[in-house]
Amino acid sequence: MSKVENIDCLIIGSGPAGYTAAIYAARADMNPVMYQGLQPGGQLTTTNEVENFPGYPDGVTGPEMMMQLQKQAERFKTDVRSGFIGKVDFSGPIHKCWSEDGTEIHAKTVIISTGAAAMYLGLESEQKYLKMGGGVSACAVCDGFFYKNQETVIVGAGDTACEEAHYLSKLCSKVTMLVRRDEFRASKIMEDRVRNTPNIEILVNTETVEVLGDDMGVTGARVINNKTNETMDIPCTGFFVAIGHKPNTDIFKEFINLDETGYIKYEKPGTSLTNVPGVFVSGDAADHVYRQAVTAAGTGCMAALDAERYLSALEG
Ligand code: NDP
Repeated sequence: MSKVENIDCLIIGSGPAGYTAAIYAARADMNPVMYQGLQPGGQLTTTNEVENFPGYPDGVTGPEMMMQLQKQAERFKTDVRSGFIGKVDFSGPIHKCWSEDGTEIHAKTVIISTGAAAMYLGLESEQKYLKMGGGVSACAVCDGFFYKNQETVIVGAGDTACEEAHYLSKLCSKVTMLVRRDEFRASKIMEDRVRNTPNIEILVNTETVEVLGDDMGVTGARVINNKTNETMDIPCTGFFVAIGHKPNTDIFKEFINLDETGYIKYEKPGTSLTNVPGVFVSGDAADHVYRQAVTAAGTGCMAALDAERYLSALEG
């Protein structure tokens, strides 16, 4: 027999959105329980230096920031649990969620903060420098600054790749964009913008064979033209991957309205409400535009405040 727990507030996911929701919910006496998920701390734990989160004038590493957020949430008695929620049933007024260890949770409110995962090429060399924090990134806004006046490569040809290539072009001496087909997926206006930027070079029909580097980090990219089979090495110190993100929303899709790419749809713009009363969303699980720690934290706060109001109304 599985154990059943009745609680006021369950928070699923432990990035900046989840921890901020936890801090607000705990301080409002909602006794939140948080399941950290498969990647405790979320995407920021794979980031080396965070310099754009307000309040850290000297910067902070991603893992350190997430530890501090956890400590802050626990200070107000958030029950932070390792483990993940593998199944939910949002069909009734009480929201049922099951953790992988068999615990059945009946929650009056649920805050989804499961985030999204950047997609990578999957090359061994790419993963090596990503883990080392040595020049591979999936976020130009987060990491572009570290490559000021240096040469970078960006993979992808969608709106994100165009936006990030343009962002990098203002910081870097040169940006080489690798497009695997001979056309872009991005909107025409975004494509035109990169085409009209003098320090962005676009290589079409080009794929990455290997990310090159040494003990210090990335030094270049070996690429192949998939039409001619010609290979060449492009010098760069930053290798950016912008081939899409996957929101971690699969377990909710039977109950929660998602858009065509899997992001949770807000029921009412400007709030954290989903289509299911009592279930709220924060962070990248619903955001394919901003994707920043600080915006995720902001929506975490909104979700906790909305959940608190919902609980107060329930209690009449
Ligand atoms: P997309 O799925 O739109 O584009 C992904 C790009 O990456 C495609 O060009 C694809 O190539 C390429 N790609 C995928 N896998 C590989 C691979 N293994 N090797 C090389 N290239 C690869 O993702 P985005 O993140 O760009 O955009 C997601 C959504 O968000 C879109 O709807 C977009 O319009 C939206 N968005 C809107 C913005 C705005 O309006 N300001 C800004 C950013 C995103 P191929 O085309 O060959 O499949």
